[in-house]
Amino acid sequence: MISILSGGTGTPKLLQGIIEIINPADITVIVNTLENNYFSGVYVAADLDTVMYTLAGIINQDTWYGIQGDTFITHDTLKEIGCPETLRIGDQDRGIKIQKTLLLDKYRLSEAVEIQRRKLGIKSKILPMSDQDSQIIIHTDEGYMEFHQFLVENQGQPNVLDLHYPEVKPAPGVIESIEQSEMVLIGPSNPITSVGPIISGEGVLKALKKVYVVAISPIIGDNPFSGPAAKFMQAQGHEVSCLGVAKIYKDFLDKFIIDYKDAHYQKKIEKLITEVMVTQTNMKNLEDKVMLARSIFGEFL
Ligand code: GDP
Repeated sequence: MISILSGGTGTPKLLQGIIEIINPADITVIVNTLENNYFSGVYVAADLDTVMYTLAGIINQDTWYGIQGDTFITHDTLKEIGCPETLRIGDQDRGIKIQKTLLLDKYRLSEAVEIQRRKLGIKSKILPMSDQDSQIIIHTDEGYMEFHQFLVENQGQPNVLDLHYPEVKPAPGVIESIEQSEMVLIGPSNPITSVGPIISGEGVLKALKKVYVVAISPIIGDNPFSGPAAKFMQAQGHEVSCLGVAKIYKDFLDKFIIDYKDAHYQKKIEKLITEVMVTQTNMKNLEDKVMLARSIFGEFL
């Protein structure tokens, strides 16, 4: 069994490669939930839905949220009649979000996700990192902002001074899944706002220290591939490079995978982490994703 810690872009991309070479039923994906919130009356669990849609083969790969080929009739109508519609949610996507919102009246988030992943025919387990509601707060020079307010409404522009999120209780199965895994994989996800919150869950770090953990750097060169990781890393005093990420993960990591372009960091990182692998981590197409998955799981296959 393999557990994979995921945010909503880099790791889902890699998941597409992983499920080509590993039986999806042997995979549990533990997903960040700190960006979850209500928008236009529906509960939006962005990273969870991206992981679900990726594993169901219906993700919109242009945006890494929503469903490929979705229509936006409801979104356009709501905007016309004056709804703020902060997020552009497609019709099918909204249907799934409405169902999740309704399920949450009766069930915990982890149970709602379990019902939905089965309905979508997904064989892998998907676990929210927590059933507890708690949001990340971004302290900017323009005030405190919730994640989507910063990223969508303000287009990630304000200077970030710091970030805060509470420690939450892991959802049922999270600790067990980590402890029972032959390998825990930390995908190329934002170390501050996606992976950090999962690891900060009660008991997660302790569980990670007991098992074999591999991570892939989301930073190639001195830039994240996409998204606001650089701003968030800087705000917390980290150098924006694979070395900076290695320093964040060093206490529990057994193997770190960095890109060819960062080969010059290998020696420095080897002083922090036992095993360092240098390979192509830039995933432009399915072939790249499968190749990276093979490099990660070579000896496990
Ligand atoms: P979010 O929830 O949308 O922020 O997504 P994630 O946390 O899962 O992933 C964001 C991170 O993925 C960013 O820091 C990117 O640099 C990284 N990323 C995206 N695509 C790639 C890729 O092809 N290769 C690598 N190495 N990192 C990637």
